Amino acid sequence: MEFQNSYLNLGKNFYQQILPTPVENPQLLLWNQQLAKTLQLSGALNDDHDRAQILSGNRIHDSSTPIALAYSGHQFGHFNPQLGDGRAHLLGELFDLNKRRFDIQLKGSGATRFSRQGDGRCALKPALRELIMSEALHALNIPSSRCLAVVSTGETVYRDLPQPGAIVTRVAQSHLRVGTFQHFGSRGDTESLKKLLDYAINRHYPEIDVNADEAQKALEFLSAVSNRQITLVCHWLRVGFIHGVMNTDNTTISGETIDYGPCAMMGDYHPGTVFSSIDAQGRYAYGNQINIAIWNMARLAESLLPLLAPEQDAAISKAETVIKQLVTDFTKAYRVMLANKLGFAYSDESDWHLIETFLGLMQSNELDYTQTFLALTQMLNGNRLTEETATILKSWLPDWLQRLGISGSVDEITTKAENHQQSATSIPHEKTDNVTDAITRMQHANPAVIPRNHHVEDILERYQQALLSGKGKQQAQTQLEQFLSVLRTPYCETELTAQFQDAAKDKDKGYRTFC
Ligand code: AMP
Ligand code: MG
Ligand code: MG
Repeated sequence: MEFQNSYLNLGKNFYQQILPTPVENPQLLLWNQQLAKTLQLSGALNDDHDRAQILSGNRIHDSSTPIALAYSGHQFGHFNPQLGDGRAHLLGELFDLNKRRFDIQLKGSGATRFSRQGDGRCALKPALRELIMSEALHALNIPSSRCLAVVSTGETVYRDLPQPGAIVTRVAQSHLRVGTFQHFGSRGDTESLKKLLDYAINRHYPEIDVNADEAQKALEFLSAVSNRQITLVCHWLRVGFIHGVMNTDNTTISGETIDYGPCAMMGDYHPGTVFSSIDAQGRYAYGNQINIAIWNMARLAESLLPLLAPEQDAAISKAETVIKQLVTDFTKAYRVMLANKLGFAYSDESDWHLIETFLGLMQSNELDYTQTFLALTQMLNGNRLTEETATILKSWLPDWLQRLGISGSVDEITTKAENHQQSATSIPHEKTDNVTDAITRMQHANPAVIPRNHHVEDILERYQQALLSGKGKQQAQTQLEQFLSVLRTPYCETELTAQFQDAAKDKDKGYRTFC
């Protein structure tokens, strides 16, 4: 294992070189073997003891030069010029089997120049939560940072209550954020901005010619980053993910999900769903995430203005063109995503009407987003809808089936489905190519299981209790690992899946998440 650190060449204004603060008693709690394999970790990280030492920051590997990165950012719409890694240390970069470069960062590893009032630490539950949620998103085919390990520190951190401390090892394509560009843009440091642009292009957008002129590069870069936001946020919306704190410092240049603080999953479909305790206005509500992603890209565009054209008017006009295109493309991609969830390859105006009607029915009848799409998928595969769902969707189902090219009434289809199930053939209706394609599309778009808030919280609570009391540790560990194994195959149902599919009995009423 040999760390590189390409950020060091950028210059000292990009980071603070600083060692993690050692912890009392580091113990390895979770190790992501699959990720470790792709990163070809060997030698230094062979056993649990070495892993705990290095991934707590207690021992620094010979090849590592830990740094904390500088950045700024808009938090809930307000610009903060001085953010940065206040509790994270980048150990360096490693390459995966495909020679792709990844940042290896400790989070919760001590204070830095950027800590402000913070203690530089992380509590156990949020650390485990980040691992669970990021593994879930990764398995759902959503670009995301990942976690290699969670190590307990043997120390107490003080939040509203005293809690056990932990350090999580985050693996990401990079830790460049919109806020990194804002950092230099807001300081009028055009030279650093140029360096950063070239670095980001080399690292994430090799299709852009880094030798082209500045204005051309900046323009292509802005479009490319915007396009990745479209992909990312449409994926979030597809599975009901609510990021919870889409500040510009939590928006990556790579287009990966990062910062799992207050994130949560939507149960019943409602665009206004919010769980974050600090999001009183619903700025980061489920259904507002496209608007916010566009807003964040407009902030990136602003920071790039000095590079886009020598005259400000010309630069603004170029930036506006990209953002306008982004609005159009986002709408299109969002509609196609929903169309796919219903089995359609595309969405024209009449499809959109059908889709909106369906969303309206889910919303007004408080239907569970995941379960309802799954039920429709399974219906085409020969499972009856529940009576309740069938009644709610009664007027809509025939139009949907007709659009899919399936003839017959819902009753005929489900009766045929039952007969076919009894005779053990899989597809109940005339299995035209269209229908087969529709089913495939739906199976890819609609997960059978998501990391339900109540299961996540329940597992974290039990794990923490077991760690504190020393009782039931093995059981808590097994339960967490079973949950992870289910989340790692979210599109197919195994024997364990059913344990984790149920919606919260209280419909997540009163559920609150914290940064
Ligand atoms: P976040 O809301 O997680 O994006 O964090 C916003 C800023 O606060 C970042 O600069 C973090 O590094 C910093 N921060 C969050 N928690 C802590 C902490 N416990 N100690 C020091 N800095 C922190
Ligand atoms: Mg953050
Ligand atoms: Mg955070």
